[in-house]
Amino acid sequence: MFGGTFDPPHVGHLVTAVNVRHALELDVVLLVVANDPWQKSGARQVSPAADRLALVEAAVGVVDGLEASAVELERGGTSYTADTVSELRRAHPDVELALILGSDAAAGLPTWERVDEVRQAARIVVVTRPGAEAGVPPPGWEWEPVETPRLDVSSTDLRARVAGGRPLDYLVTPQVIACIEERGLYA
Ligand code: ATP
Ligand code: MG
Repeated sequence: MFGGTFDPPHVGHLVTAVNVRHALELDVVLLVVANDPWQKSGARQVSPAADRLALVEAAVGVVDGLEASAVELERGGTSYTADTVSELRRAHPDVELALILGSDAAAGLPTWERVDEVRQAARIVVVTRPGAEAGVPPPGWEWEPVETPRLDVSSTDLRARVAGGRPLDYLVTPQVIACIEERGLYA
């Protein structure tokens, strides 16, 4: 599972998901859309979860082995990865779970709700950039690095691009651009 706010999903997310899936021979990578990303929603306006899910569905539509997951929207309320991990474990008891994290997310692990449950139930996979010393999980954590091409793209920059009338081309998929326009997001 690869969780995020995905406001909007971009090539950094997609390249990460595709390459971790390949490197670890995962059956599927679930892009789990946070219903209420509590560490963000206090600090800024987050787009409605239904819009972000539609964007992720648009983004993964054409890519093999990637799936948009609505599990946190269906559960509702504040999104804690600990709850999602235990829900996925219950639904798929024989499946090995891996949690994919960007380095900023890995460094933030100590701030997560009931993070020890996450740690016990899933492999922790951290995406690293060749040669770079980036954020890693805290000392004592068991985790595996996967090297992926580093694309310096962020949703924050993309939202500012739309607001400023600057192009999104090649930073998100054409389907995501169409979905942003249809829903009038970030303007
Ligand atoms: P924002 O700018 O709003 O924080 P973001 O681009 O960081 O958005 P998130 O939804 O916050 O996207 O990130 C979801 C996950 O994707 C996190 O684990 C994060 O570390 C990872 N991630 C974000 N951007 C990239 C990128 N360019 N390359 C690889 N992983 C990324
Ligand atoms: Mg982020």
